[in-house]
Amino acid sequence: MIPAYIVAIGDELLYGQTLNTNAHSLSKMLTDVGFKVVKHISIADERQVILDTVEEMSKVAKIVLITGGLGPTKDDITKKTFAEYFNVGMRRDEEVLKHIENLFSSRGREMTELNQTQADVPTNCKTIPNALGTAPAMWFEKEGCIFISMPGVPFETENIMEKEVIPRLLEFFKPPFIVHKKIQTISIPESILAQKIEDWENNLPSDIHLAYLPHLGKVTLRLTCEGDDKEKIETELNAQVQKVLPLIEKYVYGFDDETIEGKVADLLKEKNLTLGIAESCTGGYTARTFTQHEGASKFFEGGIIAYSNDVKIKVLGVKLDTIVKYGAVSEQTALEMAEGVRKLLGTKIGIATTGVAGTGGGTPEKPVGTVWIAYSDENETVAKTYQLTKNRNLNIQLTTNAVLNLLRK
Ligand code: ATP
Ligand code: MG
Repeated sequence: MIPAYIVAIGDELLYGQTLNTNAHSLSKMLTDVGFKVVKHISIADERQVILDTVEEMSKVAKIVLITGGLGPTKDDITKKTFAEYFNVGMRRDEEVLKHIENLFSSRGREMTELNQTQADVPTNCKTIPNALGTAPAMWFEKEGCIFISMPGVPFETENIMEKEVIPRLLEFFKPPFIVHKKIQTISIPESILAQKIEDWENNLPSDIHLAYLPHLGKVTLRLTCEGDDKEKIETELNAQVQKVLPLIEKYVYGFDDETIEGKVADLLKEKNLTLGIAESCTGGYTARTFTQHEGASKFFEGGIIAYSNDVKIKVLGVKLDTIVKYGAVSEQTALEMAEGVRKLLGTKIGIATTGVAGTGGGTPEKPVGTVWIAYSDENETVAKTYQLTKNRNLNIQLTTNAVLNLLRK
C-alpha cells in the first residue's frame, strides 16, 4: 500500500466560502490508479500551520498532494513556507518564466514584476508545467516521500494531475491495481440489505473489501480488491457479484457507474414508450432529472408543474369535487393527474406526484413527507403512497427516485 495524503491550503475553505472540491477530484484520481488515500485535510494560509502539517505528513505518507496558496499575492505563502521547511533559497525557473510570458502575450496582456515572481520556486524542487495557468506545480522529495504542491484553482489542479502528476507518480511508485465493482440497489434499506447478504458477506475472501454506500434511498455495494494481476482480480470480483446477485436481484438496477435515470431512459426507449409528467410536490425536479440526460427527447414528451389546485383542475382536468372531498394530496387526485397529463400530452405513460414536501404544510392525517405517486397507461391507472422525511429537498429527491423505481419495472 502506498499511502497518500491530500492537503488543501486556503482560508476560504475554512471560512466555508469555498467547497474543497480538490479533495474529491484528487482522491478519485489517486484511487483510480492504485494509491491509497488515507487523509484529507484543509488548513489555513498560515506559515506555522503549513510547516506543522508538512512535518506531520512526512512521517507517515509516501505521497502528499498540496493545493492552493501559489498565487503571486502576499496572502499566498505556500512557496516561501516550503523553502523554509526544506531550508533552501529560491531560484527563478527560466522554463516557467517563458511559459508565463507566452501566456501573457497570447492573451494580449502586460506582464508585471509580480507576475514574474510566479516563476520563483524553492531551489530543491522540480517544476511541473501548468498549461492552463501561471503558477507551476512543484515536486519535492524527502526521504522517500514525495510532496507535490499545485495551484488551487480546480480546473488547473485537475489538468496538472491528469496530464503531469499521475504519470510521474506511476513511474516513481509502480503501484498495484485497485479494482472496484459496484452493485447499485434501490428501495431496500441498508440494514435489510445487510441481513439478506450476511452469509455471503461473512464468506468473502479476506482480500476483498465490501462497503455499503447509501445515498437518497439507494445503496451502492462496492467490492474492492487490489493486486498486481488486474484480470485475475476482475474475474474474482465478477464471480462474487454473480454469487450475491440472486439474493438481492429485485433491488438491483445496475452496476458500476450506471444510474437509475439512465436505466429507465434505456428501458423506455427500447420499448418505444413516451412519458409525460404532472408534478406538484416535486415542482419540475423529476422532469429535470430526465432531461439532464442526452437523448431524453426520444421518450420524454414534457411535463406540467401543477402546483396549485387551479392548475390541477384547469390544465390537467382534475375534478373540483375530488380535491374538495379528498384533498390535493390524495390517491384520487394523483390518479386524475396522471391520467390527465397522459391524455393532455398524448403520451403512452403519465406520471403524477403530489405530496406534502416541506416543513410548512402537514396535518395529523397527512404529515409532512406524505406523498402519492400515480402511474397511468392505456391499461391501468394506479397510485402508491410513501411516507418520506421531514426535509423538503430530500423529499423532492426521494419522490423522484420513487418515480424512477416505479418506471424501471
Ligand atoms: P493561482 O496561482 O491561480 O492564484 P493558487 O494556488 O494561489 O492559484 P488560491 O489562490 O489558493 O490558489 O486559490 C485560487 C482559487 O481556487 C480560489 O478561488 C479558491 O477559492 C479556489 N480553490 C483553492 N483551493 C481549492 C480547493 N481545495 N477546492 C476548490 N477550490 C479551491
Ligand atoms: Mg489561497
